[in-house]
Amino acid sequence: MALDAGSLTSSLTTAEQAQISDILVSHSHFDHIRDIPTLGLSTLWEPGSTSVHGLPDTLSAIHEHFLNWKIYPDFTEGLNNAPAKLQFRPVEPKQAFTVLDYQIKPVPVPHPVPCVGYIVKSSSGASIAYTGDTGGGLKSFLHDPMQPGILFVDVTFPNRLHDLADTHRTPHPVQPTERVVDRIGRRRHSATYCCGPHRPPNTKTKWQKSLKTCPAK
Ligand SMILES: [Zn+2]
Repeated sequence: MALDAGSLTSSLTTAEQAQISDILVSHSHFDHIRDIPTLGLSTLWEPGSTSVHGLPDTLSAIHEHFLNWKIYPDFTEGLNNAPAKLQFRPVEPKQAFTVLDYQIKPVPVPHPVPCVGYIVKSSSGASIAYTGDTGGGLKSFLHDPMQPGILFVDVTFPNRLHDLADTHRTPHPVQPTERVVDRIGRRRHSATYCCGPHRPPNTKTKWQKSLKTCPAK
């Protein structure tokens, strides 16, 4: 199972890509969806298919702009008499569903396009959350009854560009509500706050400095 699809085909072998049965997509921005059509293409001759879970708006955007026979073939259709490689499965905010042995809950977060993060809980009871792109809304994850033990926060800008971040995030929780979330996470729910950067090229040094301020332990 994959959380978003920004770098699946560049970081995994074809055999590894073929083992992805499900992708939980947070929203339609390019850096979160760009490897969905290339995954369909690179695994075209591999057995099995991949379920793509996302908000209806998100799935429509992928279909309309990527899988439109202009940019890529429509991998949600069977090609050459083969089964479809991609199966789109719409989700509803706060409506839990099951994937493999995991309970999944989409959690809406503020962003310029419809966006959800996901809480993923295993059958053993362990639970994590992935925020997707957001400028806030972290308390929704920590207050959820599924109580994620680790909060993976998608961060887009280094700290020095915080003023530009707006509906995205930087590693350091500078806003008062974020400090509260950090305190709640550590004391009430014992959640760990981890930063997962998707950084622009040529910003590695700046990112290394910023990530040192992330309160992950
Ligand atoms: Zn985004």
